[in-house]
Amino acid sequence: MPERCAVCGQVFEIEPGFFLAALWISYPLVLGFEMAVLITCYLVLNYSLLLSFLIAATFLLVLTPPVMRYSRSVLIHLFVSFDENRSGE
Ligand SMILES: [Zn+2]
Repeated sequence: MPERCAVCGQVFEIEPGFFLAALWISYPLVLGFEMAVLITCYLVLNYSLLLSFLIAATFLLVLTPPVMRYSRSVLIHLFVSFDENRSGE
């Protein structure tokens, strides 16, 4: 992850451990998605419970990096407002 935004120069690591709070955003996202996958596989597609869990685990492994990045983006949007007229601090 870059130290500063290439467009506006915003420092991303606002304080040490700032992005640990992104876990509180990624957790409900992942939980909701995993539940949707499990319910779809087990109840809608009638796969076995084991196969449903394996499919959900595969989705979890593949989606962890993008979900982590998305969560960080959501977190920094909660704390920092972007002003397109103010750039290159
Ligand atoms: Zn920026």
